[in-house]
Amino acid sequence: MLIKEGDSVVVVAGNDRSDEVRSVVQVDRAKGKVLVEGVNLVWKHVRRSQKYPQGGRLSKEMPVDISNLKYYCTSCSSGVRLGVRYLDDGSKERYCKKCGSSAGKIAPAKAAYANK
Ligand SMILES: [Zn+2]
Repeated sequence: MLIKEGDSVVVVAGNDRSDEVRSVVQVDRAKGKVLVEGVNLVWKHVRRSQKYPQGGRLSKEMPVDISNLKYYCTSCSSGVRLGVRYLDDGSKERYCKKCGSSAGKIAPAKAAYANK
């Protein structure tokens, strides 16, 4: 599961499928679900309470399955698959499998993986 909070993604399947680039709000690794801004909106009916004196309907996102998403690569300007590779110094990074550009480091340098 290579998608992280703050990533740009494209929704490629499901009811909210579109070409728009959206950002990831939250990732639930155990369930394989991702909360994406403006995707899978539902109306929550809320009772009158201290917090909502009027009550009413609130629009909010619900998590979608990670398989509905693709990482958005800025240099390909499309949804792509991510891979993981080790760099010469032994650190780990995500990369775009299409163009090979880096999508940021995910682990610090480790001597055991370094390329001597
Ligand atoms: Zn790319």
